[in-house]
Amino acid sequence: MLHTLTLAEATEGLKNKKFSSVELTKDLLERIKKVNDGLNVYVTVDDEGALKMAAEADERLASGKNVTPLTGVPVGIKDIFNTQGVRTTCASPFLKNFVPPYDATVVTKLKEAGFVLAGKQNMDEFASGGSTEHSCFGPTKNPWDPTRVAGGSSGGSAAAVAADMSFYALGTDTGGSIRQPASLCGVVGLKVTYGRVSRSGVTAMASSWDSIGPFGKTVQDVATVLQYIAGKDVRDATTPAVEVPDYSKALGQSVKGLKIGVPKEYFGAGLDPEVENIIRTALKEYEKMGATVSEISLPYTSYAVAVYYIAMPAELSANLARFDGIRFGAKPKAPVKDMIDYYYQARNEGFGDEIKRRIMIGTYVLSAGYYDAYYVRAQKVRTLIRKDFDDAFKNVDVIMTPVSPFPAFTIGEKKDDPLAMYLADVFTIPVNCAGVPAISLPCGFINKADKKLPVGLQIIGPQFSEDKILKVAAAYEQATDWHTMKPAL
Ligand code: GLN
Repeated sequence: MLHTLTLAEATEGLKNKKFSSVELTKDLLERIKKVNDGLNVYVTVDDEGALKMAAEADERLASGKNVTPLTGVPVGIKDIFNTQGVRTTCASPFLKNFVPPYDATVVTKLKEAGFVLAGKQNMDEFASGGSTEHSCFGPTKNPWDPTRVAGGSSGGSAAAVAADMSFYALGTDTGGSIRQPASLCGVVGLKVTYGRVSRSGVTAMASSWDSIGPFGKTVQDVATVLQYIAGKDVRDATTPAVEVPDYSKALGQSVKGLKIGVPKEYFGAGLDPEVENIIRTALKEYEKMGATVSEISLPYTSYAVAVYYIAMPAELSANLARFDGIRFGAKPKAPVKDMIDYYYQARNEGFGDEIKRRIMIGTYVLSAGYYDAYYVRAQKVRTLIRKDFDDAFKNVDVIMTPVSPFPAFTIGEKKDDPLAMYLADVFTIPVNCAGVPAISLPCGFINKADKKLPVGLQIIGPQFSEDKILKVAAAYEQATDWHTMKPAL
């Protein structure tokens, strides 16, 4: 049962020699074997590699040198991070057999900290989706109710942490892909400030939006992981030399006097009344702890989804142009007539439907004659959305909202209705427009039939205020016990 531990508990157990990293890793691999078929969380499990890394970690733990809280703890990560020698597919037919020759910077950093890589987790193809149904491996199922989605695009990573199949995990968040699955699976998920964590070696979706962050069973665990992945990287020019504070230090401090803003635009039509109720109850809890809650306005909120679904596909189509079946991606299987036909075939076989849809939208909005009307205009409105947040943070310390307008939906419910799927992102996308950090924190459950469906609270802060958000989240976590609840599996 070692797999039920939090990261902090696993670290403690390793330190006190209650168990070894090999024992911990074997236990996790057993757990994965037992529940993965039902949930479809991992797309690759590297038993052999994991046990080798665990044995090395045990040597390191025995020597007492260079030991970190991550040393010897086995985890999986989203299948978008390059892992040297371990298949990295982005859940795309195009990359189904791709084995990267190098590690992403975050993977290098985790290796330096002594982590153990157990495997790679399911996702929407090239991170494009909100349900992990757009995966060439099929959908990940929600551990709380396997007839429902885990959210997306980092659904495999959120579900892995919720189902005790990973002590923590890494995901990417371009329009909500860490926070939304975290909310739907009942775990903690942190989207960092744009540029806080290096994206080198992580397949780009939409470059001016992409960010990376951890999932964990607790706020403390997320803070610990962030400590080891944040910071400037010479391989990613968007990572500034902003100091990385001690993220654990602020945890446990009081939120007395904290000013919380609640944007009225996030509580209108489309929000499930039960979700609203749970969020309002969480806000009351903060008031009990001495924080003040006031209504604010982020007037450009309603444009965010439109801005994102113009600008994101434009960037995605440019980023995916490199997949031609020659330099990147698999060769076409069908016979081809000439070079152009080769590209057509390779891209037709290699990309799934949702990616094709986005490439078409993206190339359209970037084409001559439409560029100014769509792409440039979207960028201008994006600046206004960002200004909304700048203005709001002059008066409040943090902003609190729901993460998702509804709890986990059923598999298949929205898959063929892109607009309905895109609306799942209404509360997460504005944060990516502004590039600010936000966390999803478990704050209650909705009972549907005989199942409990988790709901997450979103806490948003100004740029590079991850330490503040973590502190605010930890205070709530200490006052409640939502994070201790587990799905019956
Ligand atoms: N659901 C959003 C989309 O479909 C977000 C994706 C993401 O953050 N990677 O684009």
